[in-house]
Amino acid sequence: MPLYTELRSPNVHEPKTIGEYADTVINYSGSATSIWAGGTYIMSRPDFYPSAATNVEIINLKDIEELYRIQRNDRFSEIGAMVSLNDIALLGNNIFPRSLIQAIESTACRMMRERISIGGTLCLKGLNSPLSSVLVLLDTAVEVVIPKRRNFTRRWMHVSRLYDKNGKFILNTVFPNALVSKIRIIIQDFDFEYFSTAGKPVCNPDEAVSLAVVSKLDQNGLTSPRAIITIPSMGYAYSKDIDTLLESMPLPANENSTKELFKNIMAYISDNLGPITPIQEARLNGMMKDMVLSLNQNILSL
Ligand SMILES: Cc1cc2nc3c(=O)[nH]c(=O)nc-3n(C[C@H](O)[C@H](O)[C@H](O)COP(=O)(O)OP(=O)(O)OC[C@H]3O[C@@H](n4cnc5c(N)ncnc54)[C@H](O)[C@@H]3O)c2cc1C
Repeated sequence: MPLYTELRSPNVHEPKTIGEYADTVINYSGSATSIWAGGTYIMSRPDFYPSAATNVEIINLKDIEELYRIQRNDRFSEIGAMVSLNDIALLGNNIFPRSLIQAIESTACRMMRERISIGGTLCLKGLNSPLSSVLVLLDTAVEVVIPKRRNFTRRWMHVSRLYDKNGKFILNTVFPNALVSKIRIIIQDFDFEYFSTAGKPVCNPDEAVSLAVVSKLDQNGLTSPRAIITIPSMGYAYSKDIDTLLESMPLPANENSTKELFKNIMAYISDNLGPITPIQEARLNGMMKDMVLSLNQNILSL
């Protein structure tokens, strides 16, 4: 008896345009469809293929030329969803915020980053990548293609709208079969940027955590700071309350105010995401101290 008697090979569709993509998902609206970008996350999932659960219509985006386009001016860069992380790092090394380049360089290894697409990074289900969190922090916009009967529409939205308030990916719940087609990264400067990540989000999500902070800075302290904490297996902590705590922190900060900040952030995470593991807590505590140290050094050198 063959090993996989119950299984058939999935159909693989290779649309050449966004219009063909929309036609395919409309034609197969009765079946489960799965978008395939770089394939790195899909292929690393347990039981991906062959498996009864994955007998779906696969739509490979590799031939859609529009998704590889890059456009730049002095205010922003628009980048197609199939552009690889390595190409984005190359394009943005001197123009994009440092935290974004650091988040890219901390993702997987160089060889994998050659395959990993920015669209796939934003649309992971069940995992929050530190890179997608940094894009939320930087007010990135995404263009989303929404297939309709015999047609499709395009809509720009803030990247955070791909997720619920705690970072769970919800785009396909709101718009079934929607496709992220491009992102728009604003060219902007910050006086203070911090990014740190620890652990392996895919292989060991319960041990991984990351922190990113961006802000203007003057002698009185941080102005309009924004912070985001990523717990890959649970979501992200991103709230006005955390930003207000940072803004009201007297600088240079002492040990007590750093402890107070950490205590409040842990309370926010526990209330909104749930309990994190002791190793994630210890790592986040270390990052907070490191971030405050770097902040103090910056304020003293003004
Ligand atoms: C060894 C290894 C190490 C890794 N290390 C890291 C790491 O350090 N940090 C990290 O964050 N991740 C890591 N990853 C996870 C993952 O590969 C990447 O996060 C990556 O984002 C996936 O991109 P992709 O282009 O390969 O997407 P795919 O795997 O093709 O797709 C990912 C998901 O997004 C959907 N999708 C893809 N493109 C679109 C689009 N344009 N519109 C709508 N939906 C879309 C797909 O249907 C799928 O559900 C690792 C993976 C492996 C195998």
